[in-house]
Amino acid sequence: MKKTALITGISGQDGAYLAQFLITKNYKIIGTDKIRLKKNNWRIRRLKIEKKIIFEKMDLGKISDINKIFNKYKIDEVYNLAAKSFVKESFTNPLETANITGVGVIRILETIKKKNSKIKFYQASSSEMFGNSLSKSQSEDTKFDPQSPYAISKLFGHYITRNYRNSYKLFAVSGILFNHESPLRGEEFVTKKIIQGLIKIANNKMKFIELGNIHSKRDWGYAKEYVVQMWKMLQQKKANDFVIATGKTHSIKDFIDISAKYLKLDTKWVGKGLKMRLINKKNNQVIIRINKKLMRPSEVNYIKGNIKKAKKMLNWRPKITFKKLVKLMIDEEKKLRASYLKKPYLKIQ
Ligand code: NDP
Ligand code: GDP
Repeated sequence: MKKTALITGISGQDGAYLAQFLITKNYKIIGTDKIRLKKNNWRIRRLKIEKKIIFEKMDLGKISDINKIFNKYKIDEVYNLAAKSFVKESFTNPLETANITGVGVIRILETIKKKNSKIKFYQASSSEMFGNSLSKSQSEDTKFDPQSPYAISKLFGHYITRNYRNSYKLFAVSGILFNHESPLRGEEFVTKKIIQGLIKIANNKMKFIELGNIHSKRDWGYAKEYVVQMWKMLQQKKANDFVIATGKTHSIKDFIDISAKYLKLDTKWVGKGLKMRLINKKNNQVIIRINKKLMRPSEVNYIKGNIKKAKKMLNWRPKITFKKLVKLMIDEEKKLRASYLKKPYLKIQ
């Protein structure tokens, strides 16, 4: 029998890859977002899967929207990927972040509890919940220390998912995913911003980019591999939370250096603190500057996942290393720009 999956946040990076994966598993897919998606949604379109998804509007802020979808379809699995997901924005928009990223989770769980408690539920938890935890690496048992309205909202979602699992015996799990990137990553995130900026600089289409804190460290993996683990979590015998990461950590500065090298930009860092700059040795131009305005009121300085549990129970083995990820993102971005030059009427994303 064909299973039906509801993916909230279908227009996002993970929504698109998860839909692509579940199609290979023969799922019927209901993809929702806060507005009814036009079929020209760029990520779904790039994966060429728009015809295989039923698109519906479901704003996580509106319980009536959620009820409507659960009344209309017989759902087997829910993947709750919708969120206000940009950490920096959560400082300027904390109320909406709390309402969607946090309380939105309980709106879905309540609906499941009332309508059909057999439905399995996946919650997109985040490594941001660990914040500035003092441990060398973070596992499912590490103490949380959230540093932003985003992380605090995610922590609410995390605990309420656990609470519904314990209180009402729902099959409800949280995947604590560390940063995962891809060519489909949103432009506001640092990896995509660096890659797009450096490619433009290498092609003389831009002079410099500005960044905030380049010394923080992240455990970056490849989104396409991570979404498979979401599905695996819902296929386990028992509901359980898992950390998904690579177990390696790198600074933003490392990401810049590897990207610049791959793009054959010969560069050097000069200065310190806010005066630090990346210089293109070929013409002595500044190509990266630090802008204080891009710093966060409160930063997560270091995260590195401990993936022991996922290795053992999900057979999780990340294949795409940090370097491969940078190359993959650059290659895809260059390809896209080349096709855009041939067909300038196609809007580039
Ligand atoms: P995206 O930001 O790309 O996708 C989030 C989606 O949620 C978007 O489609 C967005 O739509 C939608 N959304 C926003 N507000 C609402 C709302 N009111 N109702 C319904 N949908 C809404 O995130 P990713 O795909 O990268 O991540 C997926 C999930 O995983 C998110 O919850 C994120 O917080 C979490 N996560 C991501 C990590 C990562 O590194 N990518 C790491 C850990 C957790 P629109 O664009 O129109 O606003
Ligand atoms: P996050 O880990 O979910 O917040 O993912 P981001 O890609 O938004 O940020 C990763 C890290 O890059 C954080 O420590 C940011 O402070 C840092 N960073 C430095 N400059 C920038 C910038 O210009 N944009 C973004 N998004 N992050 C930046």
